[in-house]
Formats: sequence, structure tokens, C-alpha cells
Amino acid sequence: MKKRIAVLGATGSIGKSTLDILRENRDRYEPALFSAHRNREALLALKGEFPDAALALSGEYNGGGEIAFWGREGLLRALADSGADTVVNGIAGAAGLESSLVALENGADLALANKETIVMAGPLTLELAAKHDRRILPVDSEHSAIFSLINAHGKDSVDEILLTASGGPFRTYTQAELCSVSPRDALAHPTWNMGPKITIDSASLANKGLELIEAVGLFHVPPDRITVVIHPQSIVHSMTRLRDGTVYAALSKPDMRLPIQNALSFPECLPCPFGRLEFDALTLEFEKPDGERFPMLPLAYEAARQGGLYPAAYNAANEIAVAAFLATTVSFLDIPRIVQYVLNTHWGELGNGTGPGALEAIMETDKRARLLAEKYIAMYITEKTR
Ligand code: NDP
Repeated sequence: MKKRIAVLGATGSIGKSTLDILRENRDRYEPALFSAHRNREALLALKGEFPDAALALSGEYNGGGEIAFWGREGLLRALADSGADTVVNGIAGAAGLESSLVALENGADLALANKETIVMAGPLTLELAAKHDRRILPVDSEHSAIFSLINAHGKDSVDEILLTASGGPFRTYTQAELCSVSPRDALAHPTWNMGPKITIDSASLANKGLELIEAVGLFHVPPDRITVVIHPQSIVHSMTRLRDGTVYAALSKPDMRLPIQNALSFPECLPCPFGRLEFDALTLEFEKPDGERFPMLPLAYEAARQGGLYPAAYNAANEIAVAAFLATTVSFLDIPRIVQYVLNTHWGELGNGTGPGALEAIMETDKRARLLAEKYIAMYITEKTR
């Protein structure tokens, strides 16, 4: 029987890569639902190719036509009605959290690109998956690599996780050069072609910060046993150091279709039609990240050590800061200043993160952190233009 797949964020970078997998495996997968937020034309265009999949547009829409579900509630209803066996969550940002929870509640496995789900609500999401006997299959290439390495060697043998990072387009920039970089400079990622938010996060190392927190949540490893290693070629997707000192690495071309395919086919390993890694002229370099030039990484370690509601505050503040940077309201170096300002607040405890009221506390933190970040930006702009 074919596996029914829902693709959330079908018009984005992860969504498009997932569609390639569906095209390559029409005998295995049956598209059940596609969602977008605002891009109605691109969503409707999918109907021609995949006529049986339902369409949901979560942004503002008057309804009607081929789009059977609309608005936030429409998307959640579409998910509940979809009968999906696996939901690929490629929604950008905190907006993806609710859909992850609804997918699990409705008995689907979660192929998770939306790292914000685990950053904001790791314990809650994992508990829900356990309650409904569903899997969370990481799509982030690093976490997909760690997931297979842990499966291969057993969690108890792992002493340390080595999370690789490309270093982004500003890896070699001086502090002075970083002062004047534009959104356009930051959007020119050297190895990955991704959506705008994650591309800016790659440039500031906030993406690695979010991934650090995601790894803590997914693999139950404390932040101090996760080391970030800069690896500009993005060939080694992450590594594990076992207790005997041996380091194992997962290598492949930088192409998100591989981790997405692995998440959809797990536990099977399918042939990959998207090209093999060749070793003819391959150079692999590794270096230490510079927390002085890229403070978003040490700030993420701090949020991960604090735990509780701090990671949700880190994420929300960063989302506001990145949107302001893309709107050229603040500079690149303001991003960590805004996040630092927000993290200076006491964000309180979350107990074990799963009890009654946990989701409300997370959503309230997300809201308050956004307001605080906006307050800082308003103060900053006032000061600058005074
Ligand atoms: P994109 O910006 O390319 O795509 C985002 C998708 O989410 C679009 O389909 C968009 O719809 C939809 N969307 C945007 N806002 C909302 C909202 N408020 N509610 C519902 N849907 C929304 O992002 P990416 O594909 O790059 O990233 C998606 C997620 O995957 C992020 O969490 C990212 O960190 C993660 N990820 C991405 C990787 C990549 O290679 N791109 C790698 C690893 C992880 P519309 O087009 O209509 O705006």
C-alpha cells in the first residue's frame, strides 16, 4: 500500500525538494495534502500534477475553488482530515509548531524540517509522539546524519555529537566587515539553496544555535556534549564520537532531497537518484567557530543550558531580528544584540515541559519575547535617528 504524505510548506525550499521525492517514487507515495501560506498560484499549480491531493492555504484567503481549506484553522483541519501516514513539516518558523502537534495527535509520523517545533516545545512534541506511538524523523541534514549514526552504534556508545556548520557567507569576514553587510550579501549562501530566514540564520550562526537546541531536544544529549565544527564544504553532515574515541561521520552531497528521502523511507534505505558523492577532488576542512564574531552561537548554548522557556525566547527574538534585518531596519550585528537583550529577561521554568499549561506557557513566551525584541528595535531606531 502507498504511504500517504502531507507536505506542509509545499511552496518553499523543503517543500519543493519533497515534491521531487514524490515524483521519483509515485509507486510508493501518495500525496495527501499540500499547504502554502500566501503563494496561492504555486499551490494551485500543484493540482495539475497531483490532482488527488487536498490543498490548504493558511494565510488570508476568501476561500473557494480548488483550495478546500484556508486560514490557520483550515490548515489544522486539513491535517486532521488528510489521513496522512507521514507529515513533512517544511513550514518556516514558529508558525510550524501547531501543525507538528496536530500531525502527531492524528497518528502521523513527523518528518521534521521545522526545527522550531523542537526548539520551542521539544519535551511536549516527544511526549506526544510516544503517546501516539509515532516517530519523529529529522529532516535537517545534520540531525538526519546524527539520527543514523546513533541508530548504527547505539546511543549509549556516543560520547559527543559534532555538529557541522558551513560557516555561511561571512565565515572569513572581520568584525569591521560584518558591520556593513546587507541582506543581499547574507542571502548568498555558499553551499545551500534555502528559504530566506534560514539563510540569514546560517550567516549569523543562529541556524547552528537552533540546531544545537534541536539536537539537545531530539537526542537527549546535554549542550556541553555537543560541539559545533565549521566545515565549509557541507559534505560531512555531522559526526559522533564514541566512548572509545572513534569518530564516525555521515558524508553526502549537500542536497536536502537525501535526508528528506531517508525520513520518508525510514527504516528502509532507498537508492538515491540525485547523484553520488565522488572523492576525485574532494577537500574537507574543519575549523573552530568564532563566538566573538558570531555571538548567536554562544547565546544559543546559553539558552540551551538554561533550558525551559529560554530556547523559545531565543527563537522568537531571532525571528523578529531577522525580519528587521531583511527589512533593512537593523544591521546584521544588531541581530545578536536584540537576542541578547531579550535573553537578559528571566524566562522562568517549564517544569518537565510536558505538563498542563506547557503549550500555553510556550506560546506566551513566544509572544512576550517578540514584543521585547520589537521594543528594543524601536528604542534602537529612536536612538540612532535622534
Ligand atoms: P521557505 O521560506 O523556503 O518556505 C517556507 C514554507 O512555509 C512556504 O511554503 C511558505 O508558504 C510556508 N509558510 C510561511 N509562513 C507560514 C505560516 N505562517 N504558516 C504556514 N505556512 C507558512 O523555508 P525553508 O523551506 O527554507 O524552511 C522551512 C523549514 O525547514 C524551516 O524551519 C527551516 O529551518 C527548515 N530547514 C530548511 C532547510 C532548507 O534547506 N531549506 C534545511 C533544514 C531545515 P508561502 O510560499 O505561501 O509563503
